[in-house]
Amino acid sequence: MDSLKDLKNLALEEFKQELEKISEPSYRAEQIFSWIYKKGIEDFDAMDNLPKSFRDKLAKSFYIGAIKPLKHLKSIDGTEKFLFELSDGNLIETVLIYAWQRKTVCISTQAGCKFACSFCASGMNGFRRDLSISEILSQILSIEHNLKHKITNFVFMGIGEPLDNYENVSKAIKIMNSKKAMGIAARRITISTSGIIPGIEKFKELGLQVNLSISLHAASNELRDRLMSVNKKYPLEELLGACEDYMKNGGRMLTFEYILIKGINDSQKDIDELVKVAKRLKAKVNLIAYSPVPGLDFQAPLEKDVKIFEDKLIKRGVNVTIRDSKGKDIMAACGQLAGIFVS
Ligand code: SF4
Repeated sequence: MDSLKDLKNLALEEFKQELEKISEPSYRAEQIFSWIYKKGIEDFDAMDNLPKSFRDKLAKSFYIGAIKPLKHLKSIDGTEKFLFELSDGNLIETVLIYAWQRKTVCISTQAGCKFACSFCASGMNGFRRDLSISEILSQILSIEHNLKHKITNFVFMGIGEPLDNYENVSKAIKIMNSKKAMGIAARRITISTSGIIPGIEKFKELGLQVNLSISLHAASNELRDRLMSVNKKYPLEELLGACEDYMKNGGRMLTFEYILIKGINDSQKDIDELVKVAKRLKAKVNLIAYSPVPGLDFQAPLEKDVKIFEDKLIKRGVNVTIRDSKGKDIMAACGQLAGIFVS
């Protein structure tokens, strides 16, 4: 397998060039993309509109990367979590969330996370590696085709920092969006970042109307430094400046994710600071009650306190929604994914 190329790591144009190198017509690339991305086929032999000789030739240079769920858990609220084992033994998790008419898949982009935010399970065991384009796409394809779920929304909010794996994530998004591949509308895709400024700058050049969400969680440098080490490298003021540039360059409305943690970021001072930055960026705030992680000394707020926090933001003119963090009982909620399955 080492000398073979994983087709799912190639954009259509790249694959066409590869076919030219083996003296095959480029239109075959579109046929194969259709088999892989529209029908979820992972085996050349099943592509029965291709001549057998061509399929044999393909198999000498390429393979179709695939991942299968090692375990699958279902929450009492319907949320499903999948544990995937990668070819080198690394484990990642992907979550399928049901809300209203939507089926949203929460995609991982790295095995582990180097940013180790103090409230999040994903960085607790360190960073192992970036996921390839193929491994990113395979999470979606496996859930959609092997498990027959029709996904409507796609969020890059699983394990890892997507903009720290910008090259592979952006190429995966282009394949997701391409009509010749998955054909997913950009507005149904959201990428969430802890605040990697160079990534935000590159992201605005992607030229797609993908939603951008900032994991804010604190609106002062002092508190953000404590909760999110990334803030020491990319402080709040610079992050907000990068967000403003993103908006000026035609970006869609920004969303701030704010995980409310009891006694940590839920004071009146925190509200005042959050109002200031949300209004400055005209950003929408998604308020999420913290979901406890074993081994971390943070507590969930009371439901009524989340509502009070929301009301105070609304009274100050902030566009805010409380987001249910689903799948707590299977450790699938925001900040709980670790790539170690708790059953
Ligand atoms: S919140 Fe995001 S960036 Fe921070 S540790 Fe978790 S996965 Fe990494």
